[in-house]
Parts: sequence; structure tokens; C-alpha cells
Amino acid sequence: MRGLPALGIDVGGGSAKIGVVAPDGSVLSQCEVVSDPRLSGGALLDSFLAAAARLQAEARTPDLAGIGIGLPGQIDRQNGTTHVGNVPSLNGFPIVEHVQARTGLHARLENDATLAALAEHRFGSGRGATRFMTVTLGTGIGVGFIENGAAVHTSNGTLGDIGHIIVDPLGARRCRQGCHGCLESVASSLALAERYAELRRSAPGGGPSGLAPLFEAARVGDKECLRIIDEAARFLAAGIVSWIHIFAPDRIALAGGMSKSGPILLDRIIAAAQALAIPNYLANLSFVPAELGTDAGLVGAAALAFETETGRDTRELAVI
Ligand SMILES: [Zn+2]
Repeated sequence: MRGLPALGIDVGGGSAKIGVVAPDGSVLSQCEVVSDPRLSGGALLDSFLAAAARLQAEARTPDLAGIGIGLPGQIDRQNGTTHVGNVPSLNGFPIVEHVQARTGLHARLENDATLAALAEHRFGSGRGATRFMTVTLGTGIGVGFIENGAAVHTSNGTLGDIGHIIVDPLGARRCRQGCHGCLESVASSLALAERYAELRRSAPGGGPSGLAPLFEAARVGDKECLRIIDEAARFLAAGIVSWIHIFAPDRIALAGGMSKSGPILLDRIIAAAQALAIPNYLANLSFVPAELGTDAGLVGAAALAFETETGRDTRELAVI
């Protein structure tokens, strides 16, 4: 670690979060740039870098340690590109080469779920853990695993399509990617919102839609809403216990938008997981809430840059 801040770019489906991050993990300045779907891969990255240059000026940080970029989907680190992500113009595009050519800074690429785990391990709920796992509960189910400080990959530069572990083979639901009975199909925020919408359609007079009213109704004792949450918690526990039996984590952080719903979901997940797992695996395992919230992706991206030994050049980020 060289004392300089780094740039983190967390690319999502519809927008990118960009931030200048200090070596202690604090975000000095940040912004969100909406991804224009009409832009080519290069033009899209240039729009992110132009916003980054403005942030860099704002934070008065002329020198940077490097740039880290997080993306959903498969990561080809050797060629600095991504495949099967939800940003079509970047699939197969030489991202690292382009960013390095534009800025003169060293750039690295990583899967976004892995970066969330890296950020929590370095600066948040995973500090000091030896076998640390994050489970991100949102529109997708993301999992990252850090073993002895290093990110673990299994296939395609990620932990595999780990959110698509099959937990309900006899059910009728399919996920956005087309598999049947996977964890995302029955327990993502999209799946819960869909279950709630079905419930409201069958009720006289309909009612509000979305996830917040589902949790609100459950908190005041609505039995049908509690049943939806209880089922989702059991499916999530089945997925988490499968990962526990494979990776043997000593700490699991629950992250993502749905983790904000609090004990009504999280306590159910943890209780169900503890009832399902081989007891030995639970002896040294703790469940904790994630600490970094929606900044985890960009802080993790910057953490990549801090740990790049070859990032000797500290030139000012070029304004495109
Ligand atoms: Zn699936």
C-alpha cells in the first residue's frame, strides 16, 4: 500500500458507481453514471472515465495508485475482459487495455460479488476472518469468498454461477438466465416481489406492490406474507448451507438490498441454516451483517488497485 488513493468503478446493469477511495477504504468522492445503452464499449468506458476525472479534481487527488473495475458476469483476467455480463457492449471488449491506454494507469478487473467480499474483508465485516464469505441478497444472489486474504475463483473467473444452485427442482419457477428451481428463481428480491404481486392479485381490491409492503405486512403479522418470507428464508438457508459444506467459512456476512429488511428475514435464514448444516461446520462459524452497504463494490474495486504491485505510474487521470 503506497498511501495514494485509487479509483474504483463498479459497473452494474443500468449504471456505474465511481469513486475515489483512500487506502483506509474511506470514499473521498463518488458519483453514479447512467450507462447509455447506445454507446459502444469504448465510449461507455470513456463516459465513466470522464466522470472519474471530475471526481479526481473534486477530491484534489492528482495522483492515483491505479484503477479497479468490477463487473457482473464472467471475468477473463488474462485478457482483461468480461463475458456473459449484463452490460452487452462490454462483453468481449478489451476493458483493461482500453482503460490503461486512456489513463496511463494500471487497471485490474474482477467480478463484482468477489469485490464486495474483498471490500468487506479489508475494511468491514470480514476483518480478521480466515475463510470469509459474503452472500449478497438482491435482484441476483451473489457470493464471494476470501481465503487467507485472497479471492477464490472456481470457474470463469468467478465462484461459478453460484446463485443458480438448484434448491427447488420440483417447483415451476425459472430465473432470468433460464435455469429451473435455482436459488435466484425462488429467493431473489425479484422472486419475492413476484410472489407478493401474485398474492395481491388474488386478494380482493389488490394492494400495493414491491418488496417494502411485503415486509411491512409480515411485520404486523400478515400470515400469507410471513409464509412467503419464511419459504424464501428456507431456500436461502439451503443454498447457504450447501456453500458452507463446500467452502467451510468461519464468517458469513449477509449483504445486499434484501439484507436491509432486518431480523424478519435474516434471523429466519440463520435459524434455518443452523438447523440444516452438519454441526461440525457451525462450531467456528459466525453470521454477521455486512458493513459497507452499497459502497462495497467500488471500495472493493479500489482495493484491487491498492494491491497491485506494478502500479508504479501515478500520473494524473487523463480527461477524455
Ligand atoms: Zn438460475
